[in-house]
Amino acid sequence: MTGSALRERLDLLYAIGGGPGANRVGYTAEEDEAHALADGWMREAGLEVEVDDGGNLIGRRPGTDPSLSEVWSGSHLDTVPQGGRFDGALGVVAALEAVERLGRRPRTVAVVAFRDEERGCAGSRARIRRGELPGAFVELHHEQGPRLAQAGAPLAVVTGIVGYVRGERVVDGRAGHAGTTPMTGRDDALVAAATEVLRVRDVAGAIDGAVATVGRLEVEPGGSNVIPARVTFTIDARAPDTERLGRLMSDLGLDPARAVQPVSFDGAPVDALRAAVEARALPLVELASGAGHDAGVLAGAGVPSAMLFVRALNDGVSHSPDELSSDEDVALAVDVLTEALGRLADLP
Ligand SMILES: [Zn+2]
Repeated sequence: MTGSALRERLDLLYAIGGGPGANRVGYTAEEDEAHALADGWMREAGLEVEVDDGGNLIGRRPGTDPSLSEVWSGSHLDTVPQGGRFDGALGVVAALEAVERLGRRPRTVAVVAFRDEERGCAGSRARIRRGELPGAFVELHHEQGPRLAQAGAPLAVVTGIVGYVRGERVVDGRAGHAGTTPMTGRDDALVAAATEVLRVRDVAGAIDGAVATVGRLEVEPGGSNVIPARVTFTIDARAPDTERLGRLMSDLGLDPARAVQPVSFDGAPVDALRAAVEARALPLVELASGAGHDAGVLAGAGVPSAMLFVRALNDGVSHSPDELSSDEDVALAVDVLTEALGRLADLP
């Protein structure tokens, strides 16, 4: 199957529910419809289909040695409201293509579509509670950022998923009349908060790979002619490893008890992806993912996992109808995924 034939499957999924954009929120009729479509594709490919009690869809090609653990690849078919064509769906469609190409191997190879990833990975978490997990998992995914395009490279091996923490800050000042209170002697909470917001930016900027965002401010009392008395604002801070996340939280005064720790990918699946990238003489770009994924959930539960990112066009935009990867990059990613899964499926 060529890049453009894969694209046709992505278009069929994208059309579900009508536009604008993809609208397949987890556990809705639209996500069900996407799963039914993928179920049909799996059966057409001669795979054994399982729908587990979390609604996850797994299509298996049984291996020749049932004593060996399974190798899975896939992603999710749900989207954010008005999402794009590639997020999640690409990983499922590509994994199906790779499993078809691989044929029968010593290990069972499966394609999986997890449910409801976007709102907190409900499907992969349900699968972990259930058990019966694979011995290796590889997730191919749209990069959802501009770094590969900036590096001029089509693919990246993902080294892990950043950890994050969210917090809230309150800055108090003193309310007053906007017309009669002189500038000297004011205690304006929003002016003080503005300084804090700049500090958040500078602290994250000083730690390699860290990011921090103030996404919401609430100004009280909120009158256009009243000096702000109180500002409450949120901080979302992320870093690629435990050491840097720790430094970021301490510099920003955020509560470490609320942190979701970073996940690092290692072991056979990462080695297989690296080898497959190098076998094609492609540049070996390694990135940490700034967003959460099912692969992070599985890795957190002890399943050796890895991810392959595909270059994002249109400045790396994602969660938007403008989300885009080229047919050429997608075809290359499927080749690399197939080779990596083949290496894993042949491991004794
Ligand atoms: Zn996704």
